[in-house]
Amino acid sequence: MNTVAHLINGNEVNDDVRHQPVYNPATGQAEKQVALASKATVEEAVAAAEAAFPAWRNTPPIKRSRIMFRFKELLEQNAERICELIGQEHGKISHDAMGELQRGIENVEYACGAPELLKGEHSRNAGPGIDSWSEFQPLGVVAGITPFNFPVMVPLWMYPMAIVCGNTFVLKPSERVPSSTLFVAQLLHEAGLPAGVMNVVNGDKEAVDTLLHDERVEAISFVGSTPIAEYIYTTATAKGKRCQALGGAKNHAIVMPDADMDNAVNQLLGAAFGSSGERCMALSVAVAVGDDAANHLVGKLAEAMQSLKVGAYSDSSNDFGPVITRQHQEKVVGFIDSAEEQGAEIVVDGRQPDVSDYQEGYFVGGTLIDKVTPEMTSYQNEIFGPVLQVVRVNSMQEAMDLIDCHEYGNGTCIFTRDGEAARYFSDHIRVGMVGINVPLPVPVAYHSFGGWKRSLFGDLHAYGPDALRFYTRRKTITQRWPSAGVRENVQFSMPTMK
Ligand code: NAD
Repeated sequence: MNTVAHLINGNEVNDDVRHQPVYNPATGQAEKQVALASKATVEEAVAAAEAAFPAWRNTPPIKRSRIMFRFKELLEQNAERICELIGQEHGKISHDAMGELQRGIENVEYACGAPELLKGEHSRNAGPGIDSWSEFQPLGVVAGITPFNFPVMVPLWMYPMAIVCGNTFVLKPSERVPSSTLFVAQLLHEAGLPAGVMNVVNGDKEAVDTLLHDERVEAISFVGSTPIAEYIYTTATAKGKRCQALGGAKNHAIVMPDADMDNAVNQLLGAAFGSSGERCMALSVAVAVGDDAANHLVGKLAEAMQSLKVGAYSDSSNDFGPVITRQHQEKVVGFIDSAEEQGAEIVVDGRQPDVSDYQEGYFVGGTLIDKVTPEMTSYQNEIFGPVLQVVRVNSMQEAMDLIDCHEYGNGTCIFTRDGEAARYFSDHIRVGMVGINVPLPVPVAYHSFGGWKRSLFGDLHAYGPDALRFYTRRKTITQRWPSAGVRENVQFSMPTMK
């Protein structure tokens, strides 16, 4: 059986004793295994990153940026191979994997602008003969810990910017989908990155805890579920590390009575069921304002869902694939059961989908649940599956209160033709990323990504301009060169420009 190993100091390393099977979620078969890094292996990766830092921090930004340009080309040239690896382990359909990769590449494109981004700020004559400037200095060794649902894109939110800012990096990807992440890191070396600047360790809690406790690691970027995000944030910050930890979500879409209903239905279908609902920006709750809007919406959704096609990643006519594990499939089905038991109406039931060629796969069909109320278990928790719930309310304010009360605040959207209502919504809603007739308001690479409330622990969002701030430490220098013979008098008061 093939073993997915680590990438340390530019070399494949595989001397761990612990391994875990990597399943193909469409077939339910383990076709590979992944090495689970021991403490010693992770420490070796951190040591490689630490050793590479002095030379890398002094490498001119334009040279770092040229490597990113080559990396972008290699990602494009190897797109099919990357998407095949994503499909084999994650199960997402090739067109969806291509979308993931493209979004990742856009982060590499942003990082190509390093020389411009790192210029800093300069003030001439801040005082008599005094110049002052602020510059962005790298932190040192930075670590990233990433989830299963975007094995290529989420790591690319992190390390291209961290690296062009002059840091060295240790990535701990999800152990459930290790191959595409590792392959992409190998391409970065093919693009000319010096050994040790970027290292990948596969593993589980042991690897994560080693990174959290290693004093040489200056900062940690994490993306995953909220309980783990909170653990990472509290542990890392208690150790004096800089940390950003992005967590889970429950994203609501308000459907106003004046919305273009056909458009809203199309948008909801893609955003609720694309990638089997395993996106942190998936729209999993539609909040219909008024019973007329709700009846209209549910009727149209139910009709449109008859043609949803669930199946294996290799058939690009499928709309979405399996969920990630057998255990997760059971969890998703359990949430649907609980909604039924607690009085909701299962309008379209995906608990026993017909995927006859893949009897052992972890499939859940598209599911629509109406008349969901806020006390229900299925409403309170992130399901992370192809399940769309409808909550009925009487006013837009009631819809907004519902969203504001939820513990998560990652993304949200409103479908309406009323510009004033949309503006009020985006102004006041307590959610980090807002769509107006846009179902997946994932910011483009030159803005930053992050939720509010328990969807993000830390101050700075992921990628874009916030990444420059997160991966650098600001230093401000104030300088004067006195002309020969001129000396300042002693001055005991605070210097001012009065
Ligand atoms: P997860 O929290 O189980 O795992 C994320 C990472 O943490 C993995 O690398 C994993 O190995 C590690 N990990 C897991 N348990 C750990 C433990 N006990 N101690 C230390 N490390 C541990 O998340 P997942 O199931 O891989 O991903 C799905 C979750 O990620 C969902 O909740 C989803 O909403 C969230 N997510 C959030 C965003 C965002 O930007 N906010 C993006 C993608 C995914």
